[in-house]
Amino acid sequence: MKERRAYWEKIVADASARHGRQITLRPKSESRFLWPVLQFLFSLFTYWIPIAFTFGWAKSRLQKVDIINGFHSMFSSTMWLAGDGSSWEESSTESKDATASHEIDHLDRLYFGNGSIREEWDALEKKPKPSRLRWAWNAFRYLFWLLPFKYATYRQEFERDGYARSLQVVVHVHGGKVPDYWRQWLIVWFSGPGYGWMATPERAEEVVKGLIEEVERVHSLGENPYARFQQQQPRD
Ligand SMILES: [Zn+2]
Repeated sequence: MKERRAYWEKIVADASARHGRQITLRPKSESRFLWPVLQFLFSLFTYWIPIAFTFGWAKSRLQKVDIINGFHSMFSSTMWLAGDGSSWEESSTESKDATASHEIDHLDRLYFGNGSIREEWDALEKKPKPSRLRWAWNAFRYLFWLLPFKYATYRQEFERDGYARSLQVVVHVHGGKVPDYWRQWLIVWFSGPGYGWMATPERAEEVVKGLIEEVERVHSLGENPYARFQQQQPRD
């Protein structure tokens, strides 16, 4: 019997072809330099500097975010897995599909520019070549545009599109509806320290509401690429 390829394996392979280099998966615990440095910088800007600037006032109100063990991240053409990678290994296929969709959307957005959640990823091949200059420009905007905190409108948009891809998996698995715990979880993330407080709680609520409505609408129109992939799979 032919081994069926999971969605995440297909999109990683397709993205490797599109970007002209192999996308690899590696646990962050193997990183000797990159992730320890990023963790240091992250804690510096979201924990130590705010505490210093408020003469300690912020200390009881802030929590340190463990970006090494806390979540998976895309950096250059590597999908870095949280911690020793065991949380990835143990997660369900759907959860891997959702995570890889999110991370590859980031990769495409950084190197190719903006997309739309209706667009099949393959359509990106018709666009200009992946550009390092565009990567640098978008990375700059991710960190600083419009402001580093609270009004980080580019970062909001960027993560919104990443989660649109993840929710296309979720909405298919849940028969056309995004469960409410996703809405609540996303609002916490959009307004919390994990993304450097990129939005006010009010703005986070508004963005997440629009995101879920769009994902459900696109799905109901039959334009969800994840659902389409699953429908094309051979049945047992
Ligand atoms: Zn993201």
